[in-house]
Amino acid sequence: MYASRRILWAVLVVGAMLSLIAPAGARAQSADSSSQQAPDRPLLLYNTHTGERLDIFFRRGDQYIPDALAKLDYFLRDHRTGEVRHFDPRLYDILADLTASIGHPGAEIDIVCGYRTPSTNESLRAHTTGVAKNSLHIQAEAIDLRIPGVDTLQLRKAALALRRGGVGYYPHSDFIHVDTGRVRQWCFDCPASLISGD
Ligand SMILES: [Zn+2]
Repeated sequence: MYASRRILWAVLVVGAMLSLIAPAGARAQSADSSSQQAPDRPLLLYNTHTGERLDIFFRRGDQYIPDALAKLDYFLRDHRTGEVRHFDPRLYDILADLTASIGHPGAEIDIVCGYRTPSTNESLRAHTTGVAKNSLHIQAEAIDLRIPGVDTLQLRKAALALRRGGVGYYPHSDFIHVDTGRVRQWCFDCPASLISGD
């Protein structure tokens, strides 16, 4: 009786070990197959305020890379206060897809604005025009950018075609705004020939 219990216990232990091993194997397999479908994604960014440059892989297959996201959060910090907030990583997919869709995959992107603290946003609103009260920069869900050598109007069209969030166009400052909010568009202080949204 005792011996058979021991055998039963051994079977249970081995079974539990196998069940631990199996999901790990399954995870490894799924990571391999997903990385075949979705290649590692690089970003090359230049921060126009801090002069910093970041050349980084932010995604491996279908997984974001935590270390890379932390570096990106710091890179996109509020340059006035130094405060860091965790960004919505879907923005990085938008940036990578944007460079690909204009035929320059991996092109260097000039970051004009990343995170803004509420106080920085209020200060900007007081001193400049075209800054929204509830800007998604405060939520770390928006980035202003341009790509050297690429017409910003063309960049705006490419961003609108992605249909992945908001797209703002600021022709006088020569940048576009992209965010992960609802799909919408606006054009700040635009020539009449350009259609403006909200
Ligand atoms: Zn913006």
